[in-house]
Amino acid sequence: MFPSSYGHQLCENKRILWTPCDMTGSLIRNRSPSAPKSSGPLQRGIGNRENGRGPAGKGGLRYNEDMSTVGFLYDDVFLLHEPPSWHPDSPDRLVNIIATLKAAGLWARLTPIKPRMAGDNELLRVHTRDHIERMRHLAPGEADPDTYLSAGTFDAALHAAGAVIEAVDQSRQGMRCLFCAVRPPGHHAEADKAMGFCIFNNVAVGAAHARATGYGKVFIIDFDAHHGNGTQHIFEEDDSVFYFSTHQYPYYPDTGKDMERGRGPGEGYTYNVPILAGSGNKEYLAVYQDILPGVVERFGPDLILVSAGYDIHANDPHANIRVTHEGIHAIIRSILACADVPVIFVLEGGYDHPSLCDSVRITIEEMLKG
Ligand SMILES: [Zn+2]
Repeated sequence: MFPSSYGHQLCENKRILWTPCDMTGSLIRNRSPSAPKSSGPLQRGIGNRENGRGPAGKGGLRYNEDMSTVGFLYDDVFLLHEPPSWHPDSPDRLVNIIATLKAAGLWARLTPIKPRMAGDNELLRVHTRDHIERMRHLAPGEADPDTYLSAGTFDAALHAAGAVIEAVDQSRQGMRCLFCAVRPPGHHAEADKAMGFCIFNNVAVGAAHARATGYGKVFIIDFDAHHGNGTQHIFEEDDSVFYFSTHQYPYYPDTGKDMERGRGPGEGYTYNVPILAGSGNKEYLAVYQDILPGVVERFGPDLILVSAGYDIHANDPHANIRVTHEGIHAIIRSILACADVPVIFVLEGGYDHPSLCDSVRITIEEMLKG
């Protein structure tokens, strides 16, 4: 399916590096034009999980019904993370998202919230001291084969994690829906290393902050086309944080098999739905409309965090999932309807700029419907 040596190719007017010598080599790939449409792994995933897992909900914090505004967390500091110009995670991703929301007349309907910096004590809930210090002092260049640091990256990364912390605090004040438009993304970052464009695991830092400050149970939904290996590993022994992921498989980073369900006290609190390349709306809606609501209900979360990776869109050059605009609408609607608790979306992937911008616009439109 993939070339077997390192190389470069022109892709949508950008020079894209691909290192597809094995399934774990790199996040940056050209899409496979001839991937089969099959429901093999997806069907196995559904069949093995029909009874769901996790304890019944205990209730807990509930949002203020009077507050219908949507919080939007963004800061220009995120533009200071500047990988090489050919890298897919361009600052223009956020610039174009903001421009799209303004052009659509949505910007004025959002409540702007300034992200703050995550403190070391907050990062240490999920990351090792060694990792934090290495990122703090690493010179501009590669942190891993996919992940680059520029002079402004560390500051941007602290604010990306801090944005989710701030969103959690805002949710406790009564705001039900929030969107964190951040970069660098986070779900590949492990406790002890940067990986796959990610420096700190923004969603994991936010979930840990929620747990540390009063939320009883947190449910993480990760619909990025790539599996959130870092998030899964950070919480795989924790029965208070549920990790639910749909992702192209087999694919980078080669984790997220359906038999990965957590360990020790966390066994049963990880739910992976691997999806074959070439799948699209039909397969995704089977998960998000027919499976997710029951799993969420059985767990009974007090807060939902979403790793929102829009590289599931059919036009994205770095995955081979075929979800359309209509599919994005339906997925977001299902997520927003699955529990009566605050929901915080955190941007992960999405590299075809028009599709990314449309997908975020669709997400915001659904949030504003209240
Ligand atoms: Zn991704």
